[in-house]
Amino acid sequence: RGLAVGVDIGGTKVAAGVVDVRGRILAEARRATPGHDPRAVEAVITELVRELSREFRIRSVGIGAAGWMDLSNSTVLFSPHLAWRNEPLRRNLERMLRRRVTVVNDADAAAWAEWRFGAGRGESRLVCVTLGTGIGGAMIMGGRVERGRHGVAGEFGHQIIVPQGHRCECGNRGCWEQYASGNALGREARELAGANSPVARAIIDAAPEGHAAITGALVTRLAMEGDPASRELVDDVGQWLGLGLANLAAALDPGTFVIGGGLSAAGELLLEPARRAFGRNLTGRGFRPAARIERAALGPEAGLIGAADLSRLLSRSGT
Ligand code: BGC
Ligand code: ZN
Repeated sequence: RGLAVGVDIGGTKVAAGVVDVRGRILAEARRATPGHDPRAVEAVITELVRELSREFRIRSVGIGAAGWMDLSNSTVLFSPHLAWRNEPLRRNLERMLRRRVTVVNDADAAAWAEWRFGAGRGESRLVCVTLGTGIGGAMIMGGRVERGRHGVAGEFGHQIIVPQGHRCECGNRGCWEQYASGNALGREARELAGANSPVARAIIDAAPEGHAAITGALVTRLAMEGDPASRELVDDVGQWLGLGLANLAAALDPGTFVIGGGLSAAGELLLEPARRAFGRNLTGRGFRPAARIERAALGPEAGLIGAADLSRLLSRSGT
């Protein structure tokens, strides 16, 4: 009873699951995110929801999408990594599924799950950062997702951290997610491999199909297996992470930062340099309490768990 389907749509994959009221996943299914066609993405979502609701009695459906949601949770205003531009996602999905659907930002969903069931439990000012294709950001304050005036607060990944730096899909240069995401890690590794440095041997060997196959996920795995170059690259990303967190602490003063997303699988290899850079850059350091920096507890499933849980809550309140 009280089961909900949650779907998490990221830049590379669509993951869906049946989730119970305690945040446990009873069944799961996933697909690759289909190219740059909003219709194709909607078709995949519909297919996954139908597949999962065949075996379970589902009360509500929640979608966490990697895009900027308007305050009424109906329209994806923009997405740097997907083809949505003013896309009436909720209406389209409700039409296809013939049922009410709740649509939220993917990072808001993940943060909600961590606050309800994971590493952020009991925190009155929680800031969550998810490191995947981009950087997702969300704030849970006083037990609510803080959405800002227009619904698009928490786009931390697009704070400009390096003026005139790398181009970002959002149109600007130097965004944080160009330095501290899974994509950023992949790009740095490809650059190292491209220089044909002997230091990059293990990375090059791990991608015999060519350098294009060197991704953040691959480098994370190699780092965990002990490859020194991959560890250095993860360490660099960790330092960028800590710098951005120090900026966020100056603005938001949370009690806890929870770090999730695919890259967080690297654990202390990522968080130790992040804490170091955070401590080194925090304004007023030594004279103020500092936030804790913790790894997410729910892993890559946080997004779908949170989307499902929020759908239970929001379908009651009618948004
Ligand atoms: C987008 C966010 C999204 C994040 C993670 C960012 O580039 O702007 O809306 O939450 O990526 O997918
Ligand atoms: Zn950007």
